[in-house]
Amino acid sequence: MTTTETQLAEYALYIDGNSMPAESGDSYESINPFTGDAWARVPDAGAADVDRAVGAARRALDGPWGELTAPQRGKLLRKLGDLIARDADRLGEIETKDNGKLLREMAGQAKALPEWYYYFAGLADKFEGSVIPTDRANYLVYTRHEPVGVVGAIVPWNSPLLLLTWKLAPALAAGCTFVVKPSDYTPASTLELAKLVEEAGFPPGVFNVVTGWGPPAGQALAGHPDVNKVAFTGSTATGIAVAHAAADNLARVTLELGGKSAQVVFSDADLDAAANGVIAGVFAATGQTCMAGSRLVVHESVKDALVAKIVERAERIKVGDPTAPETEMGPLANDRQFEKVLGFFESAREQGATVACGGQSVAELGGYFVRPTVLTDVDPTMRAVREEIFGPVLTVLPFNDEDGAVALANGTQYGLAASVWTKDVHRAHRMAARLRAGSVWVNAYRTVSPQVPFGGFGASGIGRENGSDAIRAYTETKAIWVELSAETRDPFTLG
Ligand code: NAD
Repeated sequence: MTTTETQLAEYALYIDGNSMPAESGDSYESINPFTGDAWARVPDAGAADVDRAVGAARRALDGPWGELTAPQRGKLLRKLGDLIARDADRLGEIETKDNGKLLREMAGQAKALPEWYYYFAGLADKFEGSVIPTDRANYLVYTRHEPVGVVGAIVPWNSPLLLLTWKLAPALAAGCTFVVKPSDYTPASTLELAKLVEEAGFPPGVFNVVTGWGPPAGQALAGHPDVNKVAFTGSTATGIAVAHAAADNLARVTLELGGKSAQVVFSDADLDAAANGVIAGVFAATGQTCMAGSRLVVHESVKDALVAKIVERAERIKVGDPTAPETEMGPLANDRQFEKVLGFFESAREQGATVACGGQSVAELGGYFVRPTVLTDVDPTMRAVREEIFGPVLTVLPFNDEDGAVALANGTQYGLAASVWTKDVHRAHRMAARLRAGSVWVNAYRTVSPQVPFGGFGASGIGRENGSDAIRAYTETKAIWVELSAETRDPFTLG
């Protein structure tokens, strides 16, 4: 690892319990988006490396891992959770170096990760089959939940280990083996996790990591004929490409995709609490979160008062060094993101939006910093209102009645998350039912938990992660029919 400021940390692929270079010998540098300097060198894997990793995962499934009992898998998962807890601060630092998000956010996520491993460790031996009382006489029928097989996971850069864990913990609990392709921008923490998987005592080949620049490694994994399930988190466009590739092999697919989530504020809401929730929803993590509450849908009568509170707080947000404890917003994670967000500022101005605050980069900080931005006088046809920005940009849409609020909130192809801010308990539950989103918070925003399903409607994805059902997505259900009468049946009739 890093021995001097100037020396790059050197990483290797992790396949079959071994560290190794890419077969091509190619590598690339991982850049710290705050300093702009390269800090690590990682292998640039291609299809041949993915093939090796999938082969190792298959052998582990057919070998020692496949022979472990569910309680034994649970014990290993618990041990992995303990090791992550031990190293959480270090893992958080590595993630901040790779993606520039606040150290307190990334270290906080790393400290929370063990809860996912403990939760799914507990589920490993409680996901039971059942004996089914059927309409066929003289049969004993029962089900078994068997591992779906080799899982190929592809994850983005914004919360690398958290989004990996949402897949890895249930997959291992179910008895699958795993190949992950982390984001090109954030490869390091996943390679560090591989060391902890090994230390926990998982057999070689159960967990494999292939890092690679650009689409090739991900494409090879999504389309590999020996991958049984593809678990993807990332943009909607890439998710569609991944689903196409997986479909050629009839691999199972879970997709956690983009969002354009609405925070709906009624006139009776506690406006200070709502303003705080809106800030948390769209400016925390520099807006680089799938569940960003990027559209404020607000009752006309309180719009000006609420926007004033949000703008006042947004202008005080401390933008700067993500490792400094007082910083509230770090840089955008990479040049691609930076250019994309600046492009949205430009298009919003061209299309007639009013910039209530922000709308520019932070010249004195250089790098990929932008100001927290609030856009008013927008309409639902504008690009900044329709498309996922994945940056600290809030658009404000006023409504006059509940039906209007629902129409605006649901008026996007996405459906990942939403919130309702009101003191009226009847309206809160009514709205929660009417909003088309996988998560709806009432008088709150941006909380997740291992016990609670997470995922999207519409273009925000397919399937759910977290919660007790998540383990089901990594299994195949087998029905077993045992004939009890020993009589000869008519071979030409069904049943
Ligand atoms: P991305 O779609 O560009 O990349 C995601 C992953 O896919 C990366 O590992 C990338 O290398 C890989 N990839 C790129 N092209 C590929 C291809 N053709 N085939 C296979 N793999 C390919 O997304 P990103 O920019 O890394 O992340 C931001 C996006 O992720 C946003 O849209 C955000 O909303 C979404 N996201 C969703 C959730 C969720 O849970 N719903 C969570 C976090 C982020």
